[in-house]
Amino acid sequence: MMGLMMSSPLTVTSILRHACRFHPHAEIVSRRLDGSIHRYTYAEFGRRVHRLANALARLGVRPGDRVGTLAWNSYRHLEIYYAVSCMGAVCHTINPRLFQDQIAFIVDDAQDSVLLFDTSFTGIVDELAPRVTSVDHYVALCDQESLPQSAAPGLLAYESLIADEPETFPWPALDENAASALCYTSGTTGNPKGVLYSHRSTVVHALAVSGGDWLCIRARDAILPVVPMFHAGAWGIPYAGLMNGAKLVFPGHAMDGASLHALMEGEEATMIAGVPTVWMELLRHLRETGGRLDSVERMMVGGSACPPAMIRTFEEDYDIRVMHGWGMTEMSPVGTLGSLKFHEVRLPAEERYAIQSKQGRPLYGVELRIVDEHGQPLPHDGQTTGMLQVRGPWVVGSYYKNASPHAFTEDGWFDTGDMASVDGEGYLRITDRTKDVIKSGGEWISSIDIENIAVAHPDVAEAACIAVPHEKWAERPLLVVTPQPGKQIDKRQLLAFYEGRVARWWIPNDVVVVEELPHTATGKLSKRSLRERFKNHRWPDSGGG
Ligand code: ADP
Repeated sequence: MMGLMMSSPLTVTSILRHACRFHPHAEIVSRRLDGSIHRYTYAEFGRRVHRLANALARLGVRPGDRVGTLAWNSYRHLEIYYAVSCMGAVCHTINPRLFQDQIAFIVDDAQDSVLLFDTSFTGIVDELAPRVTSVDHYVALCDQESLPQSAAPGLLAYESLIADEPETFPWPALDENAASALCYTSGTTGNPKGVLYSHRSTVVHALAVSGGDWLCIRARDAILPVVPMFHAGAWGIPYAGLMNGAKLVFPGHAMDGASLHALMEGEEATMIAGVPTVWMELLRHLRETGGRLDSVERMMVGGSACPPAMIRTFEEDYDIRVMHGWGMTEMSPVGTLGSLKFHEVRLPAEERYAIQSKQGRPLYGVELRIVDEHGQPLPHDGQTTGMLQVRGPWVVGSYYKNASPHAFTEDGWFDTGDMASVDGEGYLRITDRTKDVIKSGGEWISSIDIENIAVAHPDVAEAACIAVPHEKWAERPLLVVTPQPGKQIDKRQLLAFYEGRVARWWIPNDVVVVEELPHTATGKLSKRSLRERFKNHRWPDSGGG
């Protein structure tokens, strides 16, 4: 027997309609490229979204067409998100931090027909334009007077483009499984791969992350996503925010500690979201200036492992609840988030921090398992480490153009490429990326654990632990660190810091101090380039694990 309830399609258009109708006065605040603040309401936003859709239709954009963006977090980028998806086209966010060759590959692979870009990316566009054939129109996100000198043929100014357009657009009735957005993974190995989100996956993900235990997004919140809209959809905040009528605060290009702090204070942000490196910068700024973050109640940290020391500092010194999460572009992107359960809330601080340092537990909708190298499921006992596989309504089913089909198992799971353990309460602990594991004498050492301990040392700013070949043990961990400003790192003392914190054979054989660590386009430690750099590292004589 079938149920008798209505079946309304879950579309991005439905979020737009709801937001403009029931939260017309909610604000969207953005820092512009010149540093000034732009401010308007959902109602004004909605009118401009309609105008943009009309303008894009006039340029020839039709349902299913890909429209590319190279843009910071800002109101214009949000307008593009909604206008493109709601008109049935596909909003393709491009990460400007990728190599030029990768950007050219991505634009060509996606066959973007229009490319809209912030003027700070004019250099990228100038190099790109002669190399790609699919783009019919280039649009700079500025007014006519600010139009940059550019090699992009027929360059248009966004504000002139939408100026005279009608404020109503006949949104098509869309199938909820129609594509809404496209985002490529950073492709640290091989070419980037496209993840094609649907309206349904986007809406269901936004509903899920809005939940009280997760991002807890309410109309009384002011949410400041530092995580970029050009990568993994700013963790769904552009959709979940509007769905719930929250004030949205966009930092634009200014992601240094001082600019972020000023914006958080000025706009009374209640929830902030970003990767650990951004928060490290913010903490440094707060320490230097004695600044506070009084309005901020909670923060989401993910994208790479959040050091436990950071969780403790934000909680104890700034009274901010830290939610550590894990996800990936392929998961829209949120998979797990850390929120304590009833019986965990009153645990002693040390025990709570131990739980919060894990990557959280799955949201309803995400199924996960760990398997061995033969694909056999392993126990969720908090000890056993295996390859992490996931499935669910907002998990990639196959890559765009069927790239990397081997990432999908025959029984319908997606292989994340991460190594993890899961405990009996469902908390996930990411130990490594499969390609970054350190296997010493046949046993795994978690590089993330080693790094977390290093950054808890007062002299260390950032740490990367990599596998380096070793005669006896096949591989041994090498710790590469940067010092805190004005501090000297004493290698012996740093290694002694590990005593009692990990098994002795996990302690790195050597430490190298560098001025800067390499990062990928998505802000993660680039261990591949470090491994390459240190592949012939000479171990100290006493080495051997
Ligand atoms: P990329 O395009 O660089 O793959 P993603 O943002 O999709 O960008 O990266 C997802 C990967 O980031 C995950 O597979 C995992 O390895 C890593 N990651 C994300 N969040 C965390 C976390 N909290 N702790 C450890 N690793 C994380």
